Amino acid sequence: MSRFFFLARRFVAGESLEAAVEVVRTLNDAGLDVTLNMLGEGTREREKAEDAVRQYLVMLDLIRDGALEANISVKLTHLGLDIDETYCVDNLYRILEAAKEKDVFIRLDMEGSSYTQQTLDIFYDQYDSHKNTGVVIQAMLLRSPHDIFVLNKIGARVRLCKGSYREPTDLALQRMPNIRGAFLSMAEQLLQNGHYPAFATHDDYLIEGVARYADRLEVPKDGFEFQMLYGLRPGYQKEMRRQGYRMRIYVPFGTEWMPYFYRRLRERKENVWFVLRNLVRR
Ligand SMILES: Cc1cc2nc3c(=O)[nH]c(=O)nc-3n(C[C@H](O)[C@H](O)[C@H](O)COP(=O)(O)OP(=O)(O)OC[C@H]3O[C@@H](n4cnc5c(N)ncnc54)[C@H](O)[C@@H]3O)c2cc1C
Repeated sequence: MSRFFFLARRFVAGESLEAAVEVVRTLNDAGLDVTLNMLGEGTREREKAEDAVRQYLVMLDLIRDGALEANISVKLTHLGLDIDETYCVDNLYRILEAAKEKDVFIRLDMEGSSYTQQTLDIFYDQYDSHKNTGVVIQAMLLRSPHDIFVLNKIGARVRLCKGSYREPTDLALQRMPNIRGAFLSMAEQLLQNGHYPAFATHDDYLIEGVARYADRLEVPKDGFEFQMLYGLRPGYQKEMRRQGYRMRIYVPFGTEWMPYFYRRLRERKENVWFVLRNLVRR
């Protein structure tokens, strides 16, 4: 284990798959669903991309054998998108084919806006042959209402989130009230015309808004799910489950935790305080 992993421990299940399996079991026992993700992005070495594929295939075996109850999220740049698109797609298809055989749902995470079109194109290309897949839409991007419209039309499952990458003003909303407004308007579209949408947020304002819309549109509590990140608001995750909502926890693991960890710190100053407190305690 790296010397500094203790800093990220709150947000990352472990540096190994074995450590993540323990976390998944505990969450499953508490009635929470899980999405497993191996950390890694912007991969430039084929060896690393191939290691990721191998680990995803092991995860799929564990899920099929009943050792794990989870679905999976992958990042295309982890699978080699920055090396070569065809190479990345070949890697993705190895995972998708195995997932299809084992009936496991795979979601493509969404990265920064320079990858949005490429990610959606790859998603659309494979969707006909792998219906058990979904994608992510970021509410902050100006293009997102149109993307949601198209995804709803083809019946694809969407995870809606605010978006965690810094984006330029000509592509993305910058102010929180505007991003929240866009999120809720797209949530309404997804509840009305979508297919088992997922709402990924820790924000009470959005969670309450989505719950209110679902109620008004008479979408049953099992017709959509909320999603939160491992380590954030764990008590509230269970409380939402107790209230009868589906709650899925995104559980990242692996040694390449720095960019993910950095995004969590940038999002919320309380996360920085938490890490600093742990540092001082040591
Ligand atoms: C399951 C999941 C998957 C994601 N996948 C992607 C992806 O593929 N691509 C991508 O770009 N982004 C992704 N994200 C990240 C997302 O885009 C946001 O950056 C991240 O969720 C922060 O936004 P937020 O709405 O959760 O709350 P924030 O904007 O961080 O906070 C808003 C408010 O929510 C409340 N709140 C937030 N956190 C806490 C807390 N820990 N305790 C108490 N109150 C809190 C506070 O009132 C806070 O003011 C994902 C997020 C989740 C949960």
